Amino acid sequence: MQPRDLSDHVAYEAGRGIEEVARELDRDPSEFVKLASNENPHGPSPAAAVAIRETASNVSSYPKAAHADLTAAIAEQWDVDDEQVWLANGGDGAIDYLSRAVLEPGDDVLVPAPGFAYYGMSARFHHGDVREYELSKADDFAQDAATVLESYDGDRMVYLTSPHNPTGSTIPLEDVAEIAERTDDETLVVVDEAYGEFADRDSALALIEGRNGFEARDDVAVLRTFSKAYGLAGIRLGYAVVPEEWGDAYARVNTPFAASELACRAGLAAIDDDEHVERTVGTARESRAYMREHLEAPVWESEGNFVLVDVGDAERVAEEAQRRGVIVRDCTSFGLPECIRITCGTEEETERAVETVNAVLAEVDSGAESESDPDSQEVTDA
Ligand SMILES: *Cc1c(COP(=O)(O)O)cnc(C)c1O
Repeated sequence: MQPRDLSDHVAYEAGRGIEEVARELDRDPSEFVKLASNENPHGPSPAAAVAIRETASNVSSYPKAAHADLTAAIAEQWDVDDEQVWLANGGDGAIDYLSRAVLEPGDDVLVPAPGFAYYGMSARFHHGDVREYELSKADDFAQDAATVLESYDGDRMVYLTSPHNPTGSTIPLEDVAEIAERTDDETLVVVDEAYGEFADRDSALALIEGRNGFEARDDVAVLRTFSKAYGLAGIRLGYAVVPEEWGDAYARVNTPFAASELACRAGLAAIDDDEHVERTVGTARESRAYMREHLEAPVWESEGNFVLVDVGDAERVAEEAQRRGVIVRDCTSFGLPECIRITCGTEEETERAVETVNAVLAEVDSGAESESDPDSQEVTDA
């Protein structure tokens, strides 16, 4: 037999790992620093690491209490009902739950381009069709209501990413509200805040709950993850916060025990470790400012734990940087073959990345001609 027709489906391209690269180049993993997947340079919250060790002997049981406890802790953090918190196997899992809850076969889903690949993947898994709105490089990937609404055509779901991966741009809540208001009642606006902790912006939760002067809405959902600021990417833990009106749909769409005992215990410990998150966010801010100032190429302003850099030939620069021990993300798969994305590392990692990428750029410039678009040299501070 064969699986169903998957020709429309594409495999997710993750950033490359140290082990993988070291093996391929036949080098020692310790020679490399990985700044390709927006992981936390400080590792997990130490409290979460302790919780994981302490939970080891309990993993023969299904995660019932832990699941309920973490849901309650997150609900308390955001001051919402427990039912509104949809725990999942990573933010990606939460995207799937929203797809399951909302999409009928043939429904359209509007996603940003460039953008996070999993929105479209999940839509297709659930027999939806994917449409795109474009964030323009000439406009520094600015996000606003007009850009999205111009492409909107009655889509059942609209994805916004704020801060946006891979560009680092954000969208004001007023614009999110306008999009939700001007799209159909049956259109769900999903605001992916995977990098929300790194930005100086209020969560779009204000729109769901009717806070900060916004009217309460039942057509917005917010996505959050423990993978980035909390440093728990390997445990796979994320969640959606949805309006109270349909929060009970979770029970009918979730995979039983959506998050593991280890994940829930780690999450419970991490959520109380403010110090770790603050340190992580502080490091990201310093790192992205340093990269913007010192990289010898246009760097967009970012509110995430990464920066997008216009290097002309991403594949070549990423490969050469990798040969020198710095793994960055070639953004060709995002539709930006001239850009690399560099994750904010520790001070030492950031300095090494800047030094390495600058050296590679100098070499590429003095060697074969660069294919860089001259317009791209004019990235502004906006
Ligand atoms: C990392 C990321 C996520 C979620 O990742 P998980 O590891 O599955 O939690 C979601 N959206 C964007 C834009 C991301 O970059």
